[in-house]
Amino acid sequence: MSQAASPCRIAVVGAGVVGMTTALALQRRGHRVTVLDPRAPGEGASYGNAGFLATELIDPLSTPALLRKVPRLWLDPHGAVALPYRYLPRLTPWLMRFIAAARPAQVAKGRQALAALNGEAVAAWQRCLAEIGAEEELLASGYLLVWESKRGRAAARVQMAHLQCWGHAVEWLEAAEIRAREPGLSGRLSHGLYFPGAHQVRDPYALVRCLAAAFEARGGVIRQTKVERIEPRGEGVRLHTDAGELEADRTVVAAGAWSHHLTKSLGLEVPLETERGYHLTLPERGQALRQPVGSAERRCVMTPMSCGLRVVGFTELGGLSLSPRARRYTSLRHHAGALLADGRGLDDTAEEWMGFRPTLPDSLPVIDTHPTCPAIHFAFGHQHLGLTQAAITAELVTALVMSEKPTLDLAPYRVTRFSRRWKTE
Ligand SMILES: Cc1cc2nc3c(=O)[nH]c(=O)nc-3n(C[C@H](O)[C@H](O)[C@H](O)COP(=O)(O)OP(=O)(O)OC[C@H]3O[C@@H](n4cnc5c(N)ncnc54)[C@H](O)[C@@H]3O)c2cc1C
Repeated sequence: MSQAASPCRIAVVGAGVVGMTTALALQRRGHRVTVLDPRAPGEGASYGNAGFLATELIDPLSTPALLRKVPRLWLDPHGAVALPYRYLPRLTPWLMRFIAAARPAQVAKGRQALAALNGEAVAAWQRCLAEIGAEEELLASGYLLVWESKRGRAAARVQMAHLQCWGHAVEWLEAAEIRAREPGLSGRLSHGLYFPGAHQVRDPYALVRCLAAAFEARGGVIRQTKVERIEPRGEGVRLHTDAGELEADRTVVAAGAWSHHLTKSLGLEVPLETERGYHLTLPERGQALRQPVGSAERRCVMTPMSCGLRVVGFTELGGLSLSPRARRYTSLRHHAGALLADGRGLDDTAEEWMGFRPTLPDSLPVIDTHPTCPAIHFAFGHQHLGLTQAAITAELVTALVMSEKPTLDLAPYRVTRFSRRWKTE
């Protein structure tokens, strides 16, 4: 029997949705699990996302079509892409890799790998939540993607055919059908796509807190501590934290957009960038829509949640330290005001938030074991899909810890895929 098949001490670094689903999955297999995070569970990117299981996002972010659109999205004052000038010099190496990832062969591989994770995502969430008796956190909501301009009809047709080829149920809606399905939208619509099989969560922050409560109720430990460095020690690891050292038999790095700080000291260069995303939450407007609604042209999503109506958007490649830009909230108000039939709550009573999507140039996460230290595992880099893919990631990384055969081929998610040193060895 391998060491991890018998109960052992496991330290999970990061208490976001990926860390907490992983901690629960490992605990379920009989391990003694400690989660370390300087913040309380769910206070990173997992706090403020759109709460939508975006299983239809099977295309990598870097494609020739997207690269052609970037200048327009960047120059539009309300456009969805922002590249702060101050950050450009630091961003350039990542950007070069991102552009290189748009090669057709790489896009095809990436699509296969994203579709594989997304295809298992909902079932994995159902298993995770059923196991802790929290099924009500996941809602079979459906999803509506709308266009305001008739010019987008051809693009919508292409997208529908593409997703149907990949097994997604998609229905075409004309403006009147959209209005019947979603009376909360304004009248200025042309057409849309409806995804009847889509799911959302009730509230992503409440979800992580619920996972954390179940974990602690079963004896799991959450320590409010920052991990400074991970040191391989014999067959296990020593975690150096800002509150002393912790010995463990295994560790899983699930520190979202900060994970590369920890991989670096382990000899692994991982080009992790942050896609800063923004939200407004309108606390009194949780009933404003019947289902999550995305705007294809404005590139924003509005999701009705138990905490209110959430409006989410922007890809701002700006790293971890720049402060949030106030004008992004103005743009979110501008978009939501144009899309909603009733714009109440878009004033200063709306909560404003910015968070860090952890993104690698090929849009795939890392789900892997360290190439030379079998006690160190990784689960990070889920870009726009961390909520969607958290539960399946937890199952896959648990298989690695248990030395079992994972249910998916994990080769596309290797931690060494960007490193010349490991590729040539
Ligand atoms: C605006 C926005 C909208 C989004 N919408 C969606 C959506 O609808 N659907 C979807 O699937 N995804 C969505 N995402 C993406 C999703 O939120 C993220 O991919 C996901 O939350 C990442 O989870 P995580 O656990 O990896 O990271 P996080 O939630 O960021 O958690 C990482 C944790 O690690 C901790 N940490 C960092 N460094 C250390 C350290 N040294 N020691 C200990 N702990 C550490 C942090 O404090 C943090 O709590 C969205 C993201 C944003 C920003």
